[in-house]
Amino acid sequence: MKEQLMAHPVFGMAARQFDRTADHLNLTEDVRERCKWPKRLITVTIPIKRDNGDTEVFFGYRVQHHLSRGPVKGGLRFHPNVELGEVAALSMWMNWKCALMELPFGGGKGGVTCDPRSMSQRELENVTRRYTSEMLPFIGPETDVMAPDMGTNEQTMAWMTDVYSTHAGHLVPGIVTGKPVNLQGSQGRTVATGHGVAFLATRALTKCKIKHENATAIVQGFGNVGSYAALTLSRFGVKVIGISDITGAIFNENGIKVEDVFDHVAANGGVKDFAGADSIDPEEMLVQKCDVLVPAALERVITEENAPKLQCRVLAEAANGPTTTQADAIIEERGDIFLVPDILCNAGGVTVSYFEWVQNLQRFQWSEQEVLTKLETMLAKAFDRVQWFADKQGVSNRVAALALGIKEVADVKKQRGLFP
Ligand code: GLU
Repeated sequence: MKEQLMAHPVFGMAARQFDRTADHLNLTEDVRERCKWPKRLITVTIPIKRDNGDTEVFFGYRVQHHLSRGPVKGGLRFHPNVELGEVAALSMWMNWKCALMELPFGGGKGGVTCDPRSMSQRELENVTRRYTSEMLPFIGPETDVMAPDMGTNEQTMAWMTDVYSTHAGHLVPGIVTGKPVNLQGSQGRTVATGHGVAFLATRALTKCKIKHENATAIVQGFGNVGSYAALTLSRFGVKVIGISDITGAIFNENGIKVEDVFDHVAANGGVKDFAGADSIDPEEMLVQKCDVLVPAALERVITEENAPKLQCRVLAEAANGPTTTQADAIIEERGDIFLVPDILCNAGGVTVSYFEWVQNLQRFQWSEQEVLTKLETMLAKAFDRVQWFADKQGVSNRVAALALGIKEVADVKKQRGLFP
């Protein structure tokens, strides 16, 4: 299994990041092994009837990286590229992310290999319901709490809540987070990840002595995270000059009205042909001059090819794992780009998920203002801790963020000892 996981490019990347940080922390071999490998790798098949009457079997996964610090927390992804190795890597990153943010959770991630863009609502509902049923023995508010990720949303979470609650015989809101607000979801959860990305990007700009009112940003990806990152950046006064998604990329150095892009995407399904900007090659867009570059889509988009050509001052990693190991080395060597690493940059989502879970357990609702204020306080603290560690130890922001998360997990493993 170890070889199989290591052969996956995304898991290999997460494992190399872990090894490098473990070396820095001088972790002993036994603790290293216990921290690195996932506790549970669950694979299920999901047979559903397609709208055309055919039966199709999809594969679904859930990786629970470890449960030492609390329930497993992390999203569920519907995407054609989903594979066990990728899900395992994403669960490992969730682990360090929750620990870095001092949330009482381990890391988890789930996925179904399917193309939600080509599926009807009925088909998506059936996949979600069957996936949840197959996962019933392994999930619960004290064991594993899922949330939206790429290709899933609050409707997906509502269906999951329904399946779990129907089996329990009563509503169990704490089974997932990212639910609709009237189903005891949290105010502010939809915007949380993007809001956090924009908030941390402006802190990074301040570190670079750039006033955010004079700054420009390019955002790759216009899903939940990218769209709210772009919108919040623009509300903070940053000029958004480039946006891309699966349909294409748009660019206007005088600034793009992000609210209008929301309307265009709602009407047309993507950013392509947006009237207020020119179209540009998506790869070219990444290397245009800007102050903040926000990769907010899939893994491994900042590569050894484009890393030397980047012209941003801040790289705010809204996606999980957007920068390859080779590109990371190039960026470190260049020394002119301030990196806000993924496990910090996109931690706003899971932090507000934690707030949602707490509200669910307490049967209480906080206001959006309360949620966003608490979120900003926690993100600011984590940002400062990462800076402090990086400065003190002379390491990159990535290693600093990983080290703070990994050390937390390693300490708990040592304290709890080995069972039996
Ligand atoms: N899918 C999001 C992430 O990658 C959120 C997870 C959660 O809220 O549990 O961080």
